[in-house]
Amino acid sequence: MEKKEQLYEGKAKKVYATENPDYVIVSYKDDATAFNGAKRGTIVGKGVINNKMSNMMMAMLEKKGIPTHFVEQLSDRDTVVKKVQIVPLEVIIRNVAAGSFSKRYGVKEGTKLAIPTIEFSYKCDALDDPLINDYHALALNLASEEEIAEIKRLAFAVNEALIAFFKELNIDLIDFKLEFGRFHDKIVLADEISPDTCRFWEAGTWDTEHHTSLDKDRFRRDLGGVEDAYAEIFKRIGG
Ligand code: UDP
Repeated sequence: MEKKEQLYEGKAKKVYATENPDYVIVSYKDDATAFNGAKRGTIVGKGVINNKMSNMMMAMLEKKGIPTHFVEQLSDRDTVVKKVQIVPLEVIIRNVAAGSFSKRYGVKEGTKLAIPTIEFSYKCDALDDPLINDYHALALNLASEEEIAEIKRLAFAVNEALIAFFKELNIDLIDFKLEFGRFHDKIVLADEISPDTCRFWEAGTWDTEHHTSLDKDRFRRDLGGVEDAYAEIFKRIGG
């Protein structure tokens, strides 16, 4: 399958049409942004790692019965995916308090949550992706009640699969962001699963102030060793 015209360029990926109207090709870049684009940089080799890692995760999830957009990896940076209509919600699952959750509710980072939580942000750069609840999402016609129920069910199933997968690799899955799309009226997991979109902490370090992040927090928080952290995660998953 070959790239035709570019349809879209996002912060970390470009999307191209293909000869098949049901498929597009995503091409992963090394560009990194944080704080809604306010911080910009390059993480050398990130595009290759995120492409391959995301595909491995999607393939693993498919085996567990979770429908995804993944079709076929073409090269180091390019992958064929189903052309979905993205539901404009960022779906965030958390197992341990960190980042904006810690700030918003005054909970120390690294506090294990009593149950895994879910929250939605409305995908809208101009508004800075504001937090939104189910009723608001319905009121704004962002998704139907059935779709929201399906998204929640799938997101928690993804959490269970990923927690188990990373536990074996001595990594604690703190939180992550998913996006879902509609493909022929069915909800499928889309976007990516990578250190850009997940918090991965070296196992057993989540209950201390001195956890070791193996994810984009190293870039966001200027912790150094950004490329090494991406490479380490990739190595552990068998990449
Ligand atoms: N996240 C993401 N994209 C976003 C916002 C968050 O991939 O635009 C991921 C982030 O990597 C983390 C989780 O979602 O794994 C929760 O992020 P949080 O809400 O704590 O936001 P942050 O602290 O990153 O601003």
